[in-house]
Amino acid sequence: MEKANLNWSELTFAYMKTDCHLEYYFKDGEWDEGKIINDDRIDLNIASTCLHYGQECFEGAKAFEDKDGRVRVFRIEENAKRMVRSAEKIHMVPFPEDMFINAVEKLVQLNQRFIPPYGSGASLYLRPLLLGISGLIGVTPATDYAFMMFCSPVGPYFKSGIKPVKLIVEDQYDRAAPNGVGDVKVGGNYAAGLRASVRAKKAGYTEVLYLDALRKEFIDESGPANFFGITHDNKFITPASDSILPSITNMSLQTLAADMGMIVEKRPIHVNELPYLKEAGCCGTAAVITPIGSITHGDKVITYCETDEVGETCMSLYNNLTSIQNGVLKDKYGWTREIPMP
Ligand SMILES: *Cc1c(COP(=O)(O)O)cnc(C)c1O
Repeated sequence: MEKANLNWSELTFAYMKTDCHLEYYFKDGEWDEGKIINDDRIDLNIASTCLHYGQECFEGAKAFEDKDGRVRVFRIEENAKRMVRSAEKIHMVPFPEDMFINAVEKLVQLNQRFIPPYGSGASLYLRPLLLGISGLIGVTPATDYAFMMFCSPVGPYFKSGIKPVKLIVEDQYDRAAPNGVGDVKVGGNYAAGLRASVRAKKAGYTEVLYLDALRKEFIDESGPANFFGITHDNKFITPASDSILPSITNMSLQTLAADMGMIVEKRPIHVNELPYLKEAGCCGTAAVITPIGSITHGDKVITYCETDEVGETCMSLYNNLTSIQNGVLKDKYGWTREIPMP
């Protein structure tokens, strides 16, 4: 199939309409078999619980083309599982994991011409959504649900690809409470973080770094990405916290780090440990690894990168992960799934 006429290497992390999206509906206790919709508009009851009461969760995954034109998606079984956990936590009917995987295959196949070519640095971003769609006014869980998935070709999250960013420790707003919903991928967490994020951007930072909401002592995560650090004795450390999202990228980096001979520690990380790290980074599907150049904490600035030069360990982790994703390195972990193309 001929590729869409796009300037692939100029793509940014932005939404673009593709040929179609998928919609599946849960009604009378059953999921239907799904429809292909050749438009990016959806039809919803104005009283849908997703609109008023936040009965919404989502996922993010990516498809990559290799140098022989084969297409692979990365760890979508984990996305499928996580979406079930998210749904259950906010009392929605989950979308079955096997149907999720079939939907991914179908959407990628149908939008084949939007899969960025190997070497462009871009990929096809997949965005599944689950919505409560019953028209209700009282606060109760919906009985009807919609699962939808669209895709969009995206370039690197930050224009220059892998480049250190500036974070600021958030001292005013909380993203997620202990025992709240910070550990699931629900839209409300993002709404709660927008004020802090916009404020930080206005002040010249890339994003905020949240501390635990209760004690304001331990690192949670950055708005849309997990945090990790590399210590001077070469450990990979990442926060253990009930109010952060278990990132699939982070999980993968922990495996890669262990295989690179590093000790991996998942534990509470005190904010006062930040100055003693050799490197620090954010990770997630969208940004892969984003090295942290500096973190501002009150009147202190902790600097990890003096220039735009990326730390050695962040760079190796980035190269290992992206090489598995784009088929340059053999995937000995079974993380990728090839999608047969029509
Ligand atoms: C999606 C997300 C991440 C990254 O998770 P990945 O599975 O690596 O994409 C991190 N933090 C939050 C809050 C998220 O919603």
